[in-house]
Amino acid sequence: MSRRWLFADQLGPHFLDERKQPVLLIESKAVFRRRVYHRQKAHLILSALRHRAAELGDQAIFLRGETYGQALRTVREPLEVCHPTSRRALEFVRERDGVTVLPARGHVTSLEDFADWADGRRGALRMEAFYRFAREHHGVLMDGREPAGGRWSFDTENREPPPKDGRLGVPAPPMPKEDDIDAEVRADLDRWAREGIRFTGRDGPRRFPATAGEATARLRHFLKHRLAAFGRYEDAMLSTDPWLAHSLLSSSFNLGLLDPVEAVRGAERTYRRQGAPLAAVEGFVRQVMGWRDYIWHTYWYFGKGWGDSNELGARRSLPDWWRDLDADAVGARCLADVLTGVRDRAWVHHIPRLMVLGNYALQRGWRPAELVEWFHTRFVDGYEWVMTGNVVGMSQYADLGRMTTKPYVAGGAYINRMSDYCGGCRYDPRQRLGEDACPFTAGYWAFLARNRSRIPANARMARTMKQLSRLSDLDAVVAQEKRRGSDPP
Ligand code: SF4
Repeated sequence: MSRRWLFADQLGPHFLDERKQPVLLIESKAVFRRRVYHRQKAHLILSALRHRAAELGDQAIFLRGETYGQALRTVREPLEVCHPTSRRALEFVRERDGVTVLPARGHVTSLEDFADWADGRRGALRMEAFYRFAREHHGVLMDGREPAGGRWSFDTENREPPPKDGRLGVPAPPMPKEDDIDAEVRADLDRWAREGIRFTGRDGPRRFPATAGEATARLRHFLKHRLAAFGRYEDAMLSTDPWLAHSLLSSSFNLGLLDPVEAVRGAERTYRRQGAPLAAVEGFVRQVMGWRDYIWHTYWYFGKGWGDSNELGARRSLPDWWRDLDADAVGARCLADVLTGVRDRAWVHHIPRLMVLGNYALQRGWRPAELVEWFHTRFVDGYEWVMTGNVVGMSQYADLGRMTTKPYVAGGAYINRMSDYCGGCRYDPRQRLGEDACPFTAGYWAFLARNRSRIPANARMARTMKQLSRLSDLDAVVAQEKRRGSDPP
């Protein structure tokens, strides 16, 4: 049996054919020189890789050095590797003699499944249609030929604002316990920082699983105690509770520690056997085998140039306070809290990412490619394949709608409805002009004014555009937002 080379995001047992298969693991320091990573993300990657090497013991050759190329020169036997997760890595493995590239793993659907589905379609390749195909194809949440409960989507039930008392009544997610490997990683990262490798964000206890065992324990706890509340509150934001009822499993899927098939099947079992609410289960399944798989496939299917799309002509560079996660420089309560979460935990859930961070950047006209890099390096679950679709296609609308029918842009009213932020903020979500003008509300109208000729005039935008044309103070709002520029709000 050939030795299986596992990248640092292919660490779970589902990346091997047999439990005892010989393995090659490589730790490359050069990876951390190329980009400025969040300290806790760098820690998680190294910790997961070293934990896997320790688990495998003599079964694995574990090489630690500067580059992959240098490490590979010391390996004399043929290798096989599962399809890597970035274009750069795919090119790299394809150029190596003696390396066989196998199909990708770590997703519910295969690249071929997606291509078969996509090639035969006319019009836009929307997530919703792919998700239906994937559920039918894999028989997930299906009652015969019909979707469980008679509907494909329970999205409308899954948009509740947070409870008024700020309590969801679910137990907190179990946190991993650090061990000697984590201590060694921390000491190495301190030394690398002294040698000149730059990190950002704050160090902190490891909050995300570094082994398949820890990831499975977190999944079980989620299914048993938290999934039922996940659905209704999946879009809610609370200053007092960053985790809400989210699974905190995205980094485990993306490190390859946890097989998403296991999570999807486990969620379905809680619905069928334990009576978990269908809306919650469907919401979770949609995130994992809908959105996650769709984002993975579109990264490959739409090709290299897609990631460079910038159809709204966003030209501004990310400001330093944003790059450096300087949350203390920000007065707007929602943005300050979310940026604090990124700085201190390298994680916030999908709505702060989309409707606070992404929304703010979209309104300001910041370059989508820089944002992809920023999300990639600042989040524990960030990878190029993850962030290209989520940022370029979804949050920045930079491809003018290959993924979504309208831009994810919103004013303060949305944040006010879905969070507890606005009450304690120096700005007023209803104001778009003047000292108290909410930067999201003002930014919303300024964005629409700037892009009115670029945004397709479809039915979902018609009412908004009509409102825009009736605003008597629009010129003043646009001038105000120009003055504010990219300064911290
Ligand atoms: Fe955010 Fe505006 Fe609400 Fe302040 S008023 S918390 S800036 S949405």
